[in-house]
Amino acid sequence: MSDCIFCKIIKGEIPSSKIYEDDYCYAFKDIAPQMPVHIVVAAKKHLPSVLEFTEEDMAFLGGIQLAIAKIARQEGLTENGFRVINNCGKDAKQSVPHIHYHILAGGDMGEKIV
Ligand code: AMP
Ligand code: ZN
Repeated sequence: MSDCIFCKIIKGEIPSSKIYEDDYCYAFKDIAPQMPVHIVVAAKKHLPSVLEFTEEDMAFLGGIQLAIAKIARQEGLTENGFRVINNCGKDAKQSVPHIHYHILAGGDMGEKIV
């Protein structure tokens, strides 16, 4: 999508600190990190949110999940662990309408999810 910031990052039209890339996703450091490690894993297919995934995207979804595990190993996050978050819609404060997951790590995140 031409005016989508994450599509532009994936195409290299906007600079990013790339962490990982495969056929399904492009991962980069979040510009405003909320933990010492904060990685955005953006789908290579432009869809506004998880609500737009269909049965046809099953392989795509699996690919992204596998990529998250690969990124965790690559970035040395397996010992202490990490959190994966997807924000969907208004209440969750989704700010970029292009499907993506946050990987957060690098410190104790407490007992609550948020
Ligand atoms: P969300 O609020 O779940 O839609 O997450 C969007 C995330 O993208 C936020 O954490 C932003 O800090 C991050 N972000 C926005 N623009 C950029 C950018 N140009 N480079 C890296 N991260 C970005
Ligand atoms: Zn997009």
